[in-house]
Amino acid sequence: MAFQTNQVVNFHYTLKNEDGAVLESTVDNEPMGFLAGQGQILPKLEQALSEMKVNEKRTITLAPADAYGEFRPDAIQTAQRSNFPPDTQLESGMQFWASMEDGQQMPFVIKEVKGDDITIDFNHPLAGMTLTFDVEFMGTREASEEEIAHGHVHGPAGHHH
Ligand SMILES: [Zn+2]
Repeated sequence: MAFQTNQVVNFHYTLKNEDGAVLESTVDNEPMGFLAGQGQILPKLEQALSEMKVNEKRTITLAPADAYGEFRPDAIQTAQRSNFPPDTQLESGMQFWASMEDGQQMPFVIKEVKGDDITIDFNHPLAGMTLTFDVEFMGTREASEEEIAHGHVHGPAGHHH
């Protein structure tokens, strides 16, 4: 069924990489919930779910361009130690947010710390990967006024306040 604006869509998923290794799964937890039509999950995934019946299962494989994008070597950059909070011990794997000139916040990860030179990576952790989602469509419900106002789903697997 096609989703309506302000519907909450629930589904279970297991996300695997090209080697079949499980990266994320909701199966032993509450299903994932999102607001339809707001770009909260990958568009191809939402499209596939919208074509499914309740409790139907499908395996959906997405190329990088349909998932989290190609890996971009130029997204790996060098920053200076002075760009970071002075009291923070910097280590590879740490995640930060950079404020862009247009006010946008961009997440990045530290790849390497070499003295004052900090190698940082703006690629999404899943960039460049072909991803397979084993999904089960669990159905829809009407979003509450509060959820619509907040722009996200509340409940066990949703946003907690
Ligand atoms: Zn909220």
